[in-house]
Amino acid sequence: MKTLDQLTFDNRFARLGEAFASEILPEPIEQPRLVVVSESAMALLDLDPGEAQRAEFAELFAGHKLWAEAEPRAMVYSGHQFGGYTPRLGDGRGLLLGEVLNDAGEHWDLHLKGAGMTPYSRMGDGRAVLRSSIREFLASEHLHALGIPSSRALCVTGSSTPVWREKQESAAMVLRLAPSHVRFGHFEYFYYTRQHEHLKTLGEHVLASHFPHCLEQDEPWLAMLREVIERTALMIAHWQAYGFCHGVMNTDNMSILGITFDYGPYAFLDDFDANHICNHSDDTGRYSFTNQVPIAHWNLAALAQALTPQVEVEALRASLDLFLPLYQAHYLDLMRKRLGFSSAQEDDETLIQRLLQLMQAGQATDYTLFFRRLGEQAPAEALKVVRDDFVDLAGFDVWGRDYLARCEQEGGEQAERQTRMHAVNPKYILRNYLAQQAIEAAEQGDYGPVRELHSVLSRPFDEQPGMERYAERPPHWGKHLQISCSS
Ligand code: AMP
Ligand code: MG
Repeated sequence: MKTLDQLTFDNRFARLGEAFASEILPEPIEQPRLVVVSESAMALLDLDPGEAQRAEFAELFAGHKLWAEAEPRAMVYSGHQFGGYTPRLGDGRGLLLGEVLNDAGEHWDLHLKGAGMTPYSRMGDGRAVLRSSIREFLASEHLHALGIPSSRALCVTGSSTPVWREKQESAAMVLRLAPSHVRFGHFEYFYYTRQHEHLKTLGEHVLASHFPHCLEQDEPWLAMLREVIERTALMIAHWQAYGFCHGVMNTDNMSILGITFDYGPYAFLDDFDANHICNHSDDTGRYSFTNQVPIAHWNLAALAQALTPQVEVEALRASLDLFLPLYQAHYLDLMRKRLGFSSAQEDDETLIQRLLQLMQAGQATDYTLFFRRLGEQAPAEALKVVRDDFVDLAGFDVWGRDYLARCEQEGGEQAERQTRMHAVNPKYILRNYLAQQAIEAAEQGDYGPVRELHSVLSRPFDEQPGMERYAERPPHWGKHLQISCSS
């Protein structure tokens, strides 16, 4: 275990040079205070958990201090936002502080979000508010605990620095960890500005740092794209299977590593609704829950376009065709497990679709609780319990009979089935209203609720006696909260 000053840096991205990023120092926020910290994220850096208690910890992650070996950079990128191309975006309020090399030989980017103005701030103030920082922190750590590929979050630091959004709020910073902060939009930036030499340098950096095994292939760039497609398909399958709605799937928010990235007005579904739009600025529903699949494909095509100076168009096109079958296979696999099946049968896909149609028609089924309850008792008993949340009862009974028959084919003991199902069906999920309650307390200076919520959500599959209130259905007011995009 290390102390803060024992971290080792190896800033590979900074070494790429000034075409890729601008040298900027963080602009501190006043009276920093540690709001919440993730011990499991600290462990990625080999940090002793006790280090979070030192004043220096909050000072470092509020921009007051900096390691001598950190080389902060604001990265330049562009991207397709809601389908339209924006030629220059970049880190407008976040800085890559540096890359920490841990004892296992892994590199972890330290990215401080809310660190002040940069050349890419455009009309923004370079700040993040407490509300959005807490939301990013909670989601990163929770998705990771659910087994959904995601960037991580080390801590949130609050402050007394005022920030103006729709009303006055306070500035905060969230320290994000990821093996890379390269987005699809990085490639697009160098492609559309016709800086093909830099595009090559960027690709070679990503290959060497994150896809070294692709360098052994005949066409390393093509192999890399294939792997990005595979990883993205796996990530999206998890989102769809677990009811996660990202909300802003612009290509600048898509990680080259296929991990969930840049949390904004995201939501987990409460009652199942395939057409749910969690971002209230998304007027056309481009990023609705069900559209996440075709949009991921669209985003991968935008990435492939940016690789045309390096790879034959026909080969790129053929790779893109891999996405949907890969997605479908992963999705089916996850949903089978959620339903308690350990084997695969041809009719499973129809069984899953019919279930979702029944949920969609009624709009009264809590998506998370349905699966948890289905595993709690033997199938016939469990069906009687979950039935109450369907409107088309006759339709549900028909489905239930087929489900029961399918379970009988599986065989096995109920205790074993429950263990298997509970290991993939969370009891606790990050519901918007739970985040909202914790945020409101934190805005009043009480960090107890956000810390407790983080702790509960970091073990989402475990029974946690005394914490049952976090597993309840949301109250009516909590179901359709509008989450502001201004963060
Ligand atoms: P996002 O919607 O958070 O993914 O951000 C889109 C772009 O706007 C990125 O280039 C951000 O860095 C930039 N941005 C978002 N909020 C701010 C802000 N408050 N100040 C400066 N830039 C911002
Ligand atoms: Mg973004």
